[in-house]
Amino acid sequence: MRFATVCVSLLCAVTPLAAQTPASAIDWDSLGAEAVRNLSAYLAVNTANPPGNELAAARFLQQLLARDGIEAQILDTAELGAGRANLYARYHAGSGKKAIALVSHMDVVPVTPRYWTVDPFSGAVKDGYVWGRGALDMKGEGLVQVMALIALKRSGVPLDRDIVLIGNADEEVGGNGAVVFAQRHADLLRDVEFLMTEGGDNLVDHGKLAYYGVGVAEKRTFWQKVTVRGVASHGSRPTKQNPVPRLVAALDRLAHYETPLHVTPGVAKYFHDIAPQYTGRQRAWLADVAAALKLPAARAWITDNVYWNAILRNTISLTVLSGSNKTNVIPSEASAEIDIRLLPDQDTSAVRAELIRVVHDTAVHWETMYPPKAPLESPIETDLFRAIVRAAHERDPEAQVTTPMLTGATDRPTYRALGIVTYGFDPFKTEEADAQHGVHGNDERVSIASVVFGVRYLYDVLRYVQ
Ligand SMILES: [Zn+2]
Repeated sequence: MRFATVCVSLLCAVTPLAAQTPASAIDWDSLGAEAVRNLSAYLAVNTANPPGNELAAARFLQQLLARDGIEAQILDTAELGAGRANLYARYHAGSGKKAIALVSHMDVVPVTPRYWTVDPFSGAVKDGYVWGRGALDMKGEGLVQVMALIALKRSGVPLDRDIVLIGNADEEVGGNGAVVFAQRHADLLRDVEFLMTEGGDNLVDHGKLAYYGVGVAEKRTFWQKVTVRGVASHGSRPTKQNPVPRLVAALDRLAHYETPLHVTPGVAKYFHDIAPQYTGRQRAWLADVAAALKLPAARAWITDNVYWNAILRNTISLTVLSGSNKTNVIPSEASAEIDIRLLPDQDTSAVRAELIRVVHDTAVHWETMYPPKAPLESPIETDLFRAIVRAAHERDPEAQVTTPMLTGATDRPTYRALGIVTYGFDPFKTEEADAQHGVHGNDERVSIASVVFGVRYLYDVLRYVQ
């Protein structure tokens, strides 16, 4: 609405070409209703992974795009296995600047239906929400991407950049969809400068927007398995070759080890941006978090917040333990799995050398469980970031657009490794409680207001980045 009002005034004459097309050319109410209907149908395509079954989702999106004359290709079916696929479409701008890619994963995590109040694959629309597995992670966002693209095509907005749409398989298990896509179709991505996908959350707490979040960085998983070998024997006669106490001593040293604090650029901006929400010395500390971390009182307060602590350092969580499976048997081997998450600019071999130094026991055998993904940290000073800020401020003039780091993992590093500036972008205003409850949980749902909001918000971002 705000844009339509502005655009009939003389202001239009001085705005850039791409911003000139009146948004009133689109009936946003009916497009919003269409988006809700399409999302309901999309959520009814069961892509719980395993097994995934993303081919059905890809066909669904392909048909949706075809209705508006946008041709999409179903790719990688042989490589990904039975019932699985990636999706690719490109809307041609016909002029020179580099492309923007909108990426979503089509798979969802499994459900336990008895904990849900609706059928998680019915696409129920009720009480102002669209309900179903994937509503927030991330079929909702994927569908918004499709509808924003359709809106651009229908409105005939002149574009300087091609818009690429990608649907990936298997994000929730192995990330194989994105990996196969990047390996096999680097040619389709060669001219892509910017990429938007999950991994940036707008924070809404009790109806109040705290900030628009753009994910420019994420932690890297660097999971380790540590093993100590010994000699199996009867528990009634203790020996020095029992591997369990040795493992426990090693883990105890790790548990007491404090990783160094380290401020990356996006994290510094995030703290600086949220500082005005605080008062007194806390506001001053957050405004310059690197300086604050040198003060014991500030450091204690900041690291007491589990999220803030996790974006300021490499973290170590001791999780899986295994020794004997019988009380009276000393095992021949004891092992533990450790969930280690690194800041994006960390060197994996230096971290591992430090862990080995901390444990200080050559009997402990280290194994990296999965090869770490490429680091993800994208620059902030870009046309896309400025476009997001502009579109966000048109909606909420006072809102901060900031850069919280994701502590979890997404497919983004696979694309960032190709040199593409990769952002997490959230088109929704989701209540913190709904996200906490629904993402990978039960009764996942997205508000109809968010779907309607999201299509137009993304549409504007895509126009402004031209
Ligand atoms: Zn996801």
